[in-house]
Amino acid sequence: MTRRLRLAIPNKGRLVEPTISLLRDAGLVFEAGERALVARVQNFDLDILFVRTNDVVEFVSDGVAELGVTGLDLVAESGSDVPQLRTLGYGKCRLTVAVPSDSPFRAAEDLAGLRVATSHVRLTKRFFDGRSIPVDIIPVSGAAEVAPRLGLAEAIVDLVSTGSTLVVNGLQPIEDVFASEAVLLANATALRDRADVLDSIQTMLGATLAARDRKYLMMNAPAARLAELADLLPGLESPSVIPLAHKGMIAIHSVVEADQVWSLLPRLKAAGASGILVLPIEKLAS
Ligand code: AMP
Repeated sequence: MTRRLRLAIPNKGRLVEPTISLLRDAGLVFEAGERALVARVQNFDLDILFVRTNDVVEFVSDGVAELGVTGLDLVAESGSDVPQLRTLGYGKCRLTVAVPSDSPFRAAEDLAGLRVATSHVRLTKRFFDGRSIPVDIIPVSGAAEVAPRLGLAEAIVDLVSTGSTLVVNGLQPIEDVFASEAVLLANATALRDRADVLDSIQTMLGATLAARDRKYLMMNAPAARLAELADLLPGLESPSVIPLAHKGMIAIHSVVEADQVWSLLPRLKAAGASGILVLPIEKLAS
């Protein structure tokens, strides 16, 4: 008998909340208590393991879990060739070289012969070696941003999203080393032996993510203006057009990019649309 599938996800930190939201939005029903180590999914043959963000790669590559979610930066930093199924659109950040704002350093080359503190030693080494810039890498386990102030290093390589932590610490970014976001990993053997069920989870998550970026638009319009409106509404393939009881009028339905909605509304109105409804989409499988 094959055991229940296991999905390893972070138990602490910034990837926890968006990962749990994604799984719930995908329709998985489970309880995630504060201190739970495992959650049993009630409507799917799946257990969720809550582990340290740093341990997810190892759990998946060793086969303790068939699937995992963690940051791309941690996969690259581990040097593992664990299969990556897809990125997940959240946990976006960049690994950046930063220096004290009042320092004379403006480019990575200016750091030749100096010390760089980081918890991403492998990626930092790859970056500086790739540019043939000799630096002394000082490994730290976290809070690299205090290293310059403590006199430990002249620069750091750290993860940044908005950059506000850098500013608070008197630092400024000079060059990006790596772009990261959350990623879905799979164990190589499971990918081969349990392809069907892994595929169905991937489809389920993919449909949920695709739906997040899109809205369903419904509107009424004079039939005579269809061509004009259809030009504004590419839809997935083409918009649906439905005749209305009121002669000469139609209803148009279309799927559009969520970030286009606000710029589209006035143009649709100008092209004759009325009673425009913007609806969320729950899942979008294509
Ligand atoms: P945490 O457990 O909170 O330290 O999360 C670590 C992971 O979250 C990192 O390895 C990144 O993949 C991701 N992440 C997303 N945004 C940021 C950020 N601004 N700073 C640090 N980590 C981030």
